[in-house]
Amino acid sequence: MNANIMPLSLEDTFRFSCSNNIPCFNECCGDLQQFLTPYDILRLKNCLGISSALFLKQYTARHTGPESGLPIITLKTNGSELKCPFVTPSGCSVYNHRPSSCRMYPLARVVSRSRETGEITEQYMLIKEPYCLGHNQKKTWTIRQWEENQGVGIYNKMNDLLMEIISLKNRLMPGRIDVKSEYFFYMACYNLDIFRSHIFEKGILDSLNLNSETLNAVKDDDEALLKLGFQWIKQMFS
Ligand code: SF4
Ligand code: SF4
Repeated sequence: MNANIMPLSLEDTFRFSCSNNIPCFNECCGDLQQFLTPYDILRLKNCLGISSALFLKQYTARHTGPESGLPIITLKTNGSELKCPFVTPSGCSVYNHRPSSCRMYPLARVVSRSRETGEITEQYMLIKEPYCLGHNQKKTWTIRQWEENQGVGIYNKMNDLLMEIISLKNRLMPGRIDVKSEYFFYMACYNLDIFRSHIFEKGILDSLNLNSETLNAVKDDDEALLKLGFQWIKQMFS
C-alpha cells in the first residue's frame, strides 16, 4: 500500500493518536517488513525470557548486505499474511519491549554521520499510510514529545553506536567483509548469550586484557555486554 512520506524536524508538529478503540487497531502490525537492531533483539529476548540463540532461530530471518557483507536481521512474520508474531487481538504482547521502529511509528528516524566531522545528523519522516486512522485524531505532538512519550531514547542511543560502527567499516573497509568478521559481528551484535559464553568459556576477548570491573559488568548486564561487543567490533574494523 502506498504511503505518503513527509520530512519533519525535531520541533515540527504532527497530529496523531492511537488506541484500541480506533477501527484500524492492529492493522499496522499485520503488514510488516521489520528490521531488528541489536538492541531490539536484546530487549525482545529478555522480555520473552529466552536465549538470544533461540530468539534468533524462532523469530528472525538473517540476510546479508549485498555490498557490505554485514548481517541484517528481520522479524519473521506469521505465514503469508506478514503479520507480526507478537500481535494479539488485544494488541502488542511485547509492548514494553517493542522494537524502536514500532515505538517511532508513524515516524521514521534517519541518521547520517559526517565523514569529515563525525557529527550525527537526524532526520525524521512522517509516514501516512492510508489504513492508519491515527492521523485523523486531534492530539498534536512535536517529534521530541513523541520520542519522549514512546521511550525511544535508549534505543536511539544504542542504534547510533551501531551506525557509528557501520560508517567506520564503510570508510576503512569498503566492500564485503570476510566470513570470520561476519561471524564475529553477528555474534557480538545479535547473539549476545553466545558472545558471553565465548568471553567467559573460550576467552575470545583475552587479548584485550579487560579489567575485572568490565568483566563483572558484562556477566549479568546485557546492555554492558552489547556495548563491549560494539567496542570489540569497532576495533576489528579499525
Ligand atoms: S492508528 Fe495507526 S498505529 Fe494505531 S493501530 Fe491504527 S494503524 Fe496502527
Ligand atoms: S512488536 Fe508489537 S508493536 Fe511491533 S509490530 Fe509486533 S505487535 Fe506491533
